Amino acid sequence: MSSESPKDSNNFDEIPLARRLAASRRITSARFRYFLLGSIFLTLFTVFVSFNLFPKQDILLSSSKRNVKAKISKDGLLLGHFPYKEASKDNLRSVYPGMEVHKSVENDLAKMRAAAASQGIQLIVISGFRSIALQRQIFYENKSARNQIAIERARVSAPPGYSEHSTGFAVDFGDGSMRSTDFEESFEKTPAFLWLRRNAAKFHFVLSFPKNNIQGVSYEPWHWRYEGTVEALKEFEPANRKRRRK
Ligand SMILES: [Zn+2]
Repeated sequence: MSSESPKDSNNFDEIPLARRLAASRRITSARFRYFLLGSIFLTLFTVFVSFNLFPKQDILLSSSKRNVKAKISKDGLLLGHFPYKEASKDNLRSVYPGMEVHKSVENDLAKMRAAAASQGIQLIVISGFRSIALQRQIFYENKSARNQIAIERARVSAPPGYSEHSTGFAVDFGDGSMRSTDFEESFEKTPAFLWLRRNAAKFHFVLSFPKNNIQGVSYEPWHWRYEGTVEALKEFEPANRKRRRK
């Protein structure tokens, strides 16, 4: 005696078992999909947060003599220095034998040295372009009088791959009348430095590591970088952005 109305046939019990199972499987697999998506999202989020909160990686600065562990900071600096690529050979021009700079620096550098000379200042270039290989040699093998360890030395000379000199846009200046101040803080007392401080900007040269610079690199009154072209400005944009944020 069945009193089933057509409506009652929609009753769950009336749905064949196979279809019921299929429906519940669909619900389970949908739940599983949400769970999986949630897990993937959570994992990605965790990775993203930890990469941004903590230094990206530990790198081992090593040579035959010593190993130094250093961290790349979240803005990409190693021991205070930004990474820089090496200028291609085609882009280098000789200032004098064994001394090269980026071709776009050549003109303003010559003009600046001539302007200094016309005022009795012997502005000499004591370092220009350095290949990453040469930087490696300087960083590890340079027997400093102070016998610095690599981390200490990074404050006066960047690790390989992190030197502005690799771009060809950085120039170290000396005073031809006071060579004992080459690469020394006492260079700031020379006529050449005083002249640079007043005039370098006219020729698009900027002091890279002034006293108490935001990068935490030692004061280098001799080290100037050229920012007179779009290409040069682009190279130093990360450093300038950090300086502006100060
Ligand atoms: Zn330098």
